[in-house]
Amino acid sequence: MDGSLISLILPSYNEEENIELIYDSIHKDMADLDYDYELIFIDDGSADGTLNSIQHLAATYPGVKYISFTRNFGKEAALLAGLQKANGDAVIILDADLQHPSYLIPEMIQGFEEGYDQVIARRNRNGESKLRKGLTTMFYKMINTLVDVTLQNGVGDFRLLSRNVVNDVLKLSEANRFSKGLFSWVGYEEKVINYENVNRQAGDSKWSFSNLLNYAIDGVVSFNTKPLRLCLYTGLFILLLSLGYITVMFIEVIRTGIDVPGYFSTISAILFLGGVQLVSLGVIGEYIGRIYNEVKQRPHYLIKETNIHDANDQISQY
Ligand code: UDP
Ligand code: MG
Repeated sequence: MDGSLISLILPSYNEEENIELIYDSIHKDMADLDYDYELIFIDDGSADGTLNSIQHLAATYPGVKYISFTRNFGKEAALLAGLQKANGDAVIILDADLQHPSYLIPEMIQGFEEGYDQVIARRNRNGESKLRKGLTTMFYKMINTLVDVTLQNGVGDFRLLSRNVVNDVLKLSEANRFSKGLFSWVGYEEKVINYENVNRQAGDSKWSFSNLLNYAIDGVVSFNTKPLRLCLYTGLFILLLSLGYITVMFIEVIRTGIDVPGYFSTISAILFLGGVQLVSLGVIGEYIGRIYNEVKQRPHYLIKETNIHDANDQISQY
């Protein structure tokens, strides 16, 4: 389509070796298409030369835009910034570490031309450790029983969003962002493209197992209150169980008198109930923590430097 603009959003955290490579590869894949495009790099408070590499590109190519955060705000914040600054009729989100192959871009754009509002790239998990594969499969099983939106294994942020989807995602202003869920939550007609998993070329993945666990908790807690209900059910179940136990014991006491040795049952009850109570408190705490974060209404990120200066943008003017 003539005159349509595609925005490519690239969250980048310590990716100095990858910036130029990803630019070249996108440039190559966009060259044959009849679209204008802009690249929006978000330097998420990188400690290496990422910003330098980006500025170097921006000085050479006018289509390269960037936003540099004052510190590391996380990929979710970077994505949000990119979506807010994108001008495109469609927006493509991809990692700057070359793990999201840019050769899929033409196919994604084709999906957009066919009228799909979301074109999602889904990878297989070849080349990942068995442990990680297992953990992720478990993660999706768990999360999908708990969450109202459907989250698919292998599907990430690598996708094309139409302008309508972007506008709707931007209406969701929550502080705790779980983009994958948000994209699924807004709905719209979607098309899935499969691709072969790629391992990182340079730099390290910023994800660890504890990250994955935290991600799982975020995913569940930011989408509904089912865990709270689970606590309620567990509590009710234990209450019923103990009522039964108390009744039996009471009859026993009346029938045969008080039986002093009761150390095992007492300590088991204390430990078990203590555990259940702590877990429930933790779950409630998760929600309260989130409420606390939301009510503070802090900005999602702060910009140190950018070459995007649009008229209705407060932050970049000051
Ligand atoms: N990223 C970011 N901020 C962060 C962590 C990561 O902007 O705090 C970027 C990173 O530069 C990369 C993308 O998000 O472009 C995905 O990160 P990573 O490769 O570490 O995750 P993985 O591919 O292992 O899921
Ligand atoms: Mg990666």
